[in-house]
Amino acid sequence: MQLKDIHSQQNAINGLQRAFASRKMAHACLFVGPDGVGKRTTALAWARMLLCHNRIEKKINGVLTADSCGQCRSCKLFDAGTHPDFKLIQKELSQFTEEGKGKDAPLEMPVDVIREFVIEKIAVKAAESEYSIFVIDEAEKVNPSSQNAMLKVLEEPPSFCVLILLCSRLEQMLPTTKSRCRIIQFGPVEESFILSKLKPVCPDDSEALYWARFSEGRLGEALSWAALDTQEKSPRAYEIKKELVDRLCRFELADALDTAAWMSQAAKNLA
Ligand SMILES: [Zn+2]
Repeated sequence: MQLKDIHSQQNAINGLQRAFASRKMAHACLFVGPDGVGKRTTALAWARMLLCHNRIEKKINGVLTADSCGQCRSCKLFDAGTHPDFKLIQKELSQFTEEGKGKDAPLEMPVDVIREFVIEKIAVKAAESEYSIFVIDEAEKVNPSSQNAMLKVLEEPPSFCVLILLCSRLEQMLPTTKSRCRIIQFGPVEESFILSKLKPVCPDDSEALYWARFSEGRLGEALSWAALDTQEKSPRAYEIKKELVDRLCRFELADALDTAAWMSQAAKNLA
């Protein structure tokens, strides 16, 4: 995806573009905002642009902006998920570490993943492009000892390295981590844009509006709920919501047991 195709996060992208154009790009960034507002999508498009061999540069509102071309060898490798200079670090990588082999995916990012996939790889020179990029997903799940292990690479990454930490809960990050990163804020996605994206999966206007507001600007969340409701065997969450509101509006004490039993069953179906 090109940066120009990302909507509703223009402030964040403009900030990145201004820093890049003035050669003041931070080599460690924290992308902060709720889940589902486009942090990962932006990080991937930003990485694709940095790695691109033929960046498209143009001035928009007086700011020099850069985007990936989508055609060069680097962009093709990136789209195929095989770019040697791009690493997406997720806690699920633990199954490829000595400690985590054969174990279930952990709830937190294990220190072994940070050590083996970030710290030990950070000095490896970029093979294909100008930069080597590490995107650390769910950084709020990097526990304090793993964050401490990362401090040195955040403080002095090699000049060709860019680290992007995606974080939905800034309070989980240590002050020492935050102080070493440039913080880029991602706000909620506009309702009209969410509605336009919901249209193909959710033709009912009032249902689409409900999911758009329920998700509070998190496009990914709205799409997940709407998609869930289109699956044949899944309970219709929107119908359950309507019945719940209806039952609560006409609730009388005598209905308590019946309502409780219905809610319990509905919750089980949804779960
Ligand atoms: Zn390219």
